[in-house]
Amino acid sequence: METFRLMMLGPPGAGKGTQAKRLADRLEIPHVSTGDMLREARRKGTELGEKAAEYMEAGRLVPDKVVIGIVRERLQEDDAETGFILDGFPRTRPQAEALAEMGVELDAVVNIDVSDDEVVNRLGGRLSCPNCGAVYHRDANPPAVDDVCDKCGSEGLITREDDRPEAIRERLEEYHKKTAPLIEFYEQRGVLENVNGEASPDEVADAIVEQIGA
Ligand code: ADP
Ligand code: ADP
Ligand code: ZN
Repeated sequence: METFRLMMLGPPGAGKGTQAKRLADRLEIPHVSTGDMLREARRKGTELGEKAAEYMEAGRLVPDKVVIGIVRERLQEDDAETGFILDGFPRTRPQAEALAEMGVELDAVVNIDVSDDEVVNRLGGRLSCPNCGAVYHRDANPPAVDDVCDKCGSEGLITREDDRPEAIRERLEEYHKKTAPLIEFYEQRGVLENVNGEASPDEVADAIVEQIGA
């Protein structure tokens, strides 16, 4: 059986989560989102959640050691054996090196390219379901019924605290400084697939499927 060990790369708000969920359904492999795992830990009030909270609120990256640990554990679970889609990890060079040291060889790194202006627009309008994690956009992708989650039916979509203007600026800076260098890192390893993210979600999905041969 063919395996898909994939990673979504791109600035905050590029559409990594939106596309990773679609691909995970299509390929029947788990969607491994470090952001989702960290938010879950915060909701539960675990030690991990407490460690991550102040960084996340400020829009800064959580220390490498913390995220490397949770990814290592997650990828050891049975469902990750035939493939997975990493979303939001690695985000720094040390994280990428740690992933390689775990013995993980990525088949493809999908780099979703969008401008900083589009990032600000997308994150500024993002609405998230606090119950199931589904993601919407005020204008580009609203729920069918105002303020009600299409997926789970719960009422009260929220703006993530790190989707406020101050935190958005900080996250973009972190991205350019620490994450963007991974584009070259993976290009050198021959696995980079560049996709234009400034198209409709359907168009972006089609381009990804075509480029990775899924
Ligand atoms: P987005 O996809 O909108 O950029 P995420 O949900 O992936 O946001 O991440 C939210 C926050 O969680 C990040 O701003 C950061 O504080 C933390 N985080 C998630 N993944 C990582 C990671 N790999 N390394 C460090 N921090 C991370
Ligand atoms: P990321 O995981 O990279 O932070 P998301 O998938 O959460 O990005 O998307 C960020 C915001 O942009 C959400 O509000 C989402 O609904 C919206 N969005 C995602 N893809 C597109 C697209 N192709 N066009 C317009 N808006 C999009
Ligand atoms: Zn929901």
